[in-house]
Amino acid sequence: MKTNHLTILGPCSLESMEQIEPIILLAQKFGIFTIRAHLFKPRTNPDSFQGLHENGIELVKNIKTKYPGLKLVEEVLSLKQYLLTQDYFEYIQVGARNMQNFELLKDLATHLLPHQTIILKRGFANTLEEWIQSARYLIKYGLKKEQIILCERGSRSLTSSTGMHPDFICAFQAKHDYDFQVIFDASHSTKEATYVLPMAEASQAFGLDGLLIECHPQPMMALSDKDQAIDLEALEQFLSKFYALKEFTGKKNLNVISDNQ
Ligand code: PEP
Ligand code: MN
Repeated sequence: MKTNHLTILGPCSLESMEQIEPIILLAQKFGIFTIRAHLFKPRTNPDSFQGLHENGIELVKNIKTKYPGLKLVEEVLSLKQYLLTQDYFEYIQVGARNMQNFELLKDLATHLLPHQTIILKRGFANTLEEWIQSARYLIKYGLKKEQIILCERGSRSLTSSTGMHPDFICAFQAKHDYDFQVIFDASHSTKEATYVLPMAEASQAFGLDGLLIECHPQPMMALSDKDQAIDLEALEQFLSKFYALKEFTGKKNLNVISDNQ
């Protein structure tokens, strides 16, 4: 079981080299090589931008050629999407809406390559026990526990104006009671840029294994989730403080990949 810290930075959805390159360069300054480059976006509104889909594969290949050390993160909604993009991504996210899509879990567990890791988000109305059972599907159908990272992304809230709030206790218990690696998605569990970085910082008090933060060089131009995208100046300030604190507390960098990589 890893105890070091995994930071994932990147846009909600991959748009262009101009969009992602400044994020990669900033991340590398902090020794971060795990970059979100989603091609397939599950959207509530069918008319919203759905990601570049297969039209983005060439761009992903170019990113990998130009920055060979990167580990890329994608989300897939089907086996077909996974097989189409399997060669370019190291982390495969199963989103909140698919946490209990058992056929997808079985398919991914059966086909996943040994160097790949699944990031399994908690559904926003799912319990700790349901989350763990979904992770058990992955294990039952072929994955090692080290190939699974759980990701807390918040629950539906009755009180928050954003409609979401993170459940750190659930995340903490998944880590300590069930011995999974658990990271925190500060973006989808807050939904507004104002709250993302303070919540990211707060999550660290629970000793989780990592963070996911959505960012964009021009947040207002983002094709998806623009309200929660952090601009790169604010992100740099946050990372400077965050990693200084990590050095101080001895929980050193950083972008540790699961044992299988
Ligand atoms: C995402 O990470 O892009 C996403 C859609 O998150 P979630 O599944 O947590 O809503
Ligand atoms: Mn998003």
